[in-house]
Amino acid sequence: MTSSVALDWDRLTEEATELLSSYIRVDTVNPPGNETRACEWLGPILDREGIPYRLVDPGRGRATLVATLPGTGARGGSLILLNHTDVVPFERDHWTVEPLGGEVRDGYIWGRGASDMKGMGIMELMVFLLHKRLALPLERDLTFIAVADEEAGSAFGVEFLAREHPDLLQCDYVINEGGTGSTEVFGVQRPTFTIGVAEKGPFWLKLSTTGRPGHGSVPHDDNAADRLVRALGKVLQWQRPLMPSAEVLEYFHQLHAGGVLRDAVTGALLQRLAAEHPRIHSMQTNSISLTTLDSGVKHNVIPAEASATLDVRLVPGYDPDRFIDELRAVIDDPRVVIDEVFRSSTPPSPLDTELFAVMTRATKSLVEDAIVVPGVSTGFTDSRVFRRLGIPAYGFVPVLLEPEDMGRAHGNDERLSIANLRLGMQILFETVRGICA
Ligand SMILES: [Zn+2]
Repeated sequence: MTSSVALDWDRLTEEATELLSSYIRVDTVNPPGNETRACEWLGPILDREGIPYRLVDPGRGRATLVATLPGTGARGGSLILLNHTDVVPFERDHWTVEPLGGEVRDGYIWGRGASDMKGMGIMELMVFLLHKRLALPLERDLTFIAVADEEAGSAFGVEFLAREHPDLLQCDYVINEGGTGSTEVFGVQRPTFTIGVAEKGPFWLKLSTTGRPGHGSVPHDDNAADRLVRALGKVLQWQRPLMPSAEVLEYFHQLHAGGVLRDAVTGALLQRLAAEHPRIHSMQTNSISLTTLDSGVKHNVIPAEASATLDVRLVPGYDPDRFIDELRAVIDDPRVVIDEVFRSSTPPSPLDTELFAVMTRATKSLVEDAIVVPGVSTGFTDSRVFRRLGIPAYGFVPVLLEPEDMGRAHGNDERLSIANLRLGMQILFETVRGICA
């Protein structure tokens, strides 16, 4: 599949590079967010191109921008290009460049948000602008949503839209973050693109208990800290089975078919990979990280209260209530109270959609030897809100990261290569033509 539209990708890449550099300089670190600044930066660009847009504003400077290029509807409902405008904080001392400087050097655009996800935001913006500039025919609406507050729970972002403006989320498909390409998988050099189809369900829990305070010199059997430690000891000892979902199995089968995994996909192979790679283990099981502990006021005082937080991530589709019952049975102590802090459980997006096929074709048309596989993410994104509504949402940031660039999102010296900005735009353009033209 090659596009019939001839474009000057050198020029477009220069333009996108300048835009991303400038966009990184817009401070949208969340907290506090200030995403209205991103809207005020995007708005004039759309104005210049004659594209109308609206701001959806929950207040506190947390606006989201929505713009639509109308299509005929002959091929169905809208395609949403979704990108979040906020970025996570940074520790300046650990960076070698100015985190909000947007420096362009050595073939990279550097700064917080370059890869998560202002870079993708610019790819989506450029593809969107191109459709207007060239008056490309659209057989469905093409919608660009630059959404606030993804990095801190989405209460001012997509959750707000779902509650207050559900009409804005109505569409046939969503392209979002949550999947990308890498030059190497399991040590094998082969361009491999993962399209995110499912995410583990966050299920954040707090354990707490109380006891009888007293003098530290006289231990007794009603020490709240002791009780909590006993409960946590049981939680840490709890052996939970691997439960590879259909999507996880498909991921490995396709890696095998593409030659990246030499061995056929068996239970033994999945066990071995899980043992070697914490992320592969987490993909296949209900995971528990003990993340905070709180108890005690003084070295010689037996505490009356103790609490801990658990970051639980359930395999896609696992019933949170069932998990609570299991956890309660494991702890087996009615004086340890389990409170829910946050839960989200969403079904996977289907693999057999037209968009999935188009993304695969577009990628293979531009990257020789590419393997395209479905992916299950251990983290979560705004896609969960669309999946909750039954709308297929895909994690598809179509760039090819080197292993050394993998840890930079949320890390230090975040960057995106100019070559990747170009590739991402090209694949995304082909994808949008394939599904909208
Ligand atoms: Zn992100």
